[in-house]
Amino acid sequence: MKDTAKHQGLRNQLAAVLEQKGITDKNVLEAIKKVPRHLFLNSSFEDYAYQDKAFPIGAGQTISQPYTVAFQSQLLQVDKGHSVLEIGTGSGYQTAVLYAMGAKVFSVERQNELFKTTSLLLPKLGIRPKHLSFGDGYKGLPNFAPFDSVIVTAAAPFIPKPLMAQLKIGGRLVIPVDNEQGVQTMTLLIRKNETQFEKHEFGDFRFVPLLENKN
Ligand code: SAH
Repeated sequence: MKDTAKHQGLRNQLAAVLEQKGITDKNVLEAIKKVPRHLFLNSSFEDYAYQDKAFPIGAGQTISQPYTVAFQSQLLQVDKGHSVLEIGTGSGYQTAVLYAMGAKVFSVERQNELFKTTSLLLPKLGIRPKHLSFGDGYKGLPNFAPFDSVIVTAAAPFIPKPLMAQLKIGGRLVIPVDNEQGVQTMTLLIRKNETQFEKHEFGDFRFVPLLENKN
């Protein structure tokens, strides 16, 4: 599959739609304009790739809706050179957006099939995360910690302690947490010091579940 002027036009339109929906971070909007989302989807979805919708990516998973990707990316407040841990690599689209924003990305995927496919795809597109790993995101990546921010891209039943512990002071954890309505509350934790975290909540989103550790 190729990236053409037509795709670029559709990406510019998508960025405009996200701006209308309230995304203000220019770094996020520029990244949405850069990353060829159609190349992260099965070719049968190519015509729909720049609609603001989630799509299946195999192994029972989805590529997140662009608005959700943009919203979470904005909450992270990524600066160039920041180290960002992503839980749930999936298609690699969110990984690519963070990379385009200038982050050093570390990403963990629980399903081997997706891990393998995405590990091959990203370098082909010139996208070079610092580290991709196959493993259990509940544990984070202690060997590469601490991180400027952590993003979880699947529905969490609770906030895993290791992810909090792997944040720098001042660091931000963005995670959709199951609520009583059966959807997820987008939650931001900011690490104030060794022991204290400030919590902010941003309304309802829908994600596929974070899978329990099967080991
Ligand atoms: N960021 C992805 C979203 C994929 S959906 C994208 O832009 O396409 C969520 C992903 O989280 C799925 O790929 C799923 O397999 C993965 N996942 C689920 N539980 C996990 C866990 N415990 N650790 C790491 N990844 C997990």
